[in-house]
Amino acid sequence: MSVESVFPRLEPHLLSVSKPIQYVGGELNMVSKDWDAAEVRWVLMYPDAYEVGLPNQGVQILYEVLNEREWILAERTYAVWPDMEKVLREQQIPQFTVDNHRPVGAFDLLGVSFSTELGYTNLLTALDLAGIPLHAIDRTEDHPVVIAGGHAAFNPEPIADFVDAAVLGDGEEVVLKISEVVREWKGEGRPGGRQELLRRLAVSGTVYVPQFYDVEYDDSGAIAAVVPNHPEAPDRVRKHTLMDLDQWPYPRNPLVPLAETVHERFSVEIFRGCTRGCRFCQAGMITRPVRERSIETIGAMVDNGIKKTGFEEVGLLSLSSADHTEIGDVATGLADRYEGSNVSLSLPSTRVDAFNITLANEFSRNGRRSGLTFAPEGGSERMRKVINKMVTEDDLIRTVATAYSHGWRQVKLYFMCGLPTETDEDVLQIAELAKRVIATGREVSGRNDIRCTVSIGGFVPKPHTPFQWAAQLDAETTDRRLQVLRDTVRADKRFGRAIGFRYHDGQPGIIEGLLSRGDRRVGRIIEQVWRDGGRFDGWSEHFSFSRWAESAAVALEGTGVDLDWYTTREREYDEVLPWDHLDSGLDKDWLWADWEDALAVGDGSSDVEVEDCRWTPCYDCGVCPEMGTEIQIGPTGHKLLPLSVV
Ligand code: SF4
Repeated sequence: MSVESVFPRLEPHLLSVSKPIQYVGGELNMVSKDWDAAEVRWVLMYPDAYEVGLPNQGVQILYEVLNEREWILAERTYAVWPDMEKVLREQQIPQFTVDNHRPVGAFDLLGVSFSTELGYTNLLTALDLAGIPLHAIDRTEDHPVVIAGGHAAFNPEPIADFVDAAVLGDGEEVVLKISEVVREWKGEGRPGGRQELLRRLAVSGTVYVPQFYDVEYDDSGAIAAVVPNHPEAPDRVRKHTLMDLDQWPYPRNPLVPLAETVHERFSVEIFRGCTRGCRFCQAGMITRPVRERSIETIGAMVDNGIKKTGFEEVGLLSLSSADHTEIGDVATGLADRYEGSNVSLSLPSTRVDAFNITLANEFSRNGRRSGLTFAPEGGSERMRKVINKMVTEDDLIRTVATAYSHGWRQVKLYFMCGLPTETDEDVLQIAELAKRVIATGREVSGRNDIRCTVSIGGFVPKPHTPFQWAAQLDAETTDRRLQVLRDTVRADKRFGRAIGFRYHDGQPGIIEGLLSRGDRRVGRIIEQVWRDGGRFDGWSEHFSFSRWAESAAVALEGTGVDLDWYTTREREYDEVLPWDHLDSGLDKDWLWADWEDALAVGDGSSDVEVEDCRWTPCYDCGVCPEMGTEIQIGPTGHKLLPLSVV
């Protein structure tokens, strides 16, 4: 049965809300399909505002992969701002898709991509506005199956009550398999109702279904065991890994936003995964192994993306883009091809080494010389060894010297505060480093208008990393350390004005920590916060620490655990972690040994360094044998030809 568009009811109210254009759809490359002709219907959600959600690569890729199948229909929805939420409630208009303004509750599946845990309350708003019961167990076969994906889904326990399933890892192939299961079940007349569909999804190996597992707690409040309560549910659920990125050159038809968004460029993912081994980095750990896209496919995707969108900026994405084995040839090939045109290239993430300046020169051949960003992460050399990010101070100074002498005026340095074993002194080293950067810049360029921006984020320990056992630094100490650092920078009149300083308060990091390493009991806190008005927790103007702290106190009463237990407490080896039954491929003993190595490096009793397994022998992190995958890297030796010649 066809569903009606809510647009006629929505339109009269659009002028009463902020940025109404974010709700109208109709973007270039949007897909509009016949509702009745589709056998399986997905709505994909990015749980943040349109301006943040639209550029998200994951959603754009799945949108295309699904819509390319004639029997599948996929549309998109984003979190609505509180002013629009009020309109929807007053007018009794449900959460809708931006594509065709269809009610979200009418679809078969709602896939939600979580890059960060701070989007959880926005999921609850969308469910409630869509008329979907908040708790999975209250849903019937008339409601969509709610599936979480994205990096945060590697520990979906805090939202286990609200989602029917979670997908771990790469989504491209698995969304098609899920669609097949749903098509078959619907085609058979929905036998066994919703429970049977969830059973079929669980046994297909595509998803984790939280309600098929019971969590038992011991007297202290710690988890005693996570046990399947369904005879066919697997003991552990595995992540999905897409091999051969060249076979999946998406997005092919990128969406071009109508409203202003956080990124306005066409991005090509040049490889997936990272094996550098930075111990804090969840993205690097859960996306192993490295799989490169070939230079030819990158070249073809850039050409196609520019033609299909009209974007004038191309970003080469990955976790550490300069590590692509043929990045030099990619950079030169693209710079040659687009010389004299309006197309500019950017490399969003770069490591600290001089090679990146050569690349940056290629990338800026055609455009502005904007700032360069490097991420030493740790302020002192000791700290950088603890996190296994082996950048020496001399490396950094050499790199910035090259940058400033090649005409750059501005360098941005990114650090973290609160890393394991960190002291005040480690953080104060950031000031010394920034001063040396400015002094070097002035010396090599002979100019005084050199600038360096120091940007600092609070460290949040993440599941599936060697730091998953670490105690998070409390918010007060984080704030105090950063205050002292800022005062130290400002106090030195020779450098103070040349050094910009950006940092985040410690409190939001504590809540991110609660949601990252939380278990199912944290779901009650999320719901309480949402009922108290919590929305858009990733936005400082909406975030309220006291709302989270008070809700935690209420929701956790009688459990024996509290906010500190989840965040500032170090875990022991034999503690059952909430995500232990979710298999990222990483061997838990390897992670533990790496954690112990970090502590030993920190107290000076060891100097061990984990090298990148792309260039050294495999060090048995467990992923490749466990997942049946392998590292896929070049060089292929091929070159990018200017397309006009081709
Ligand atoms: S199993 Fe070996 S080769 Fe594969 S990612 Fe881990 S260390 Fe690298």
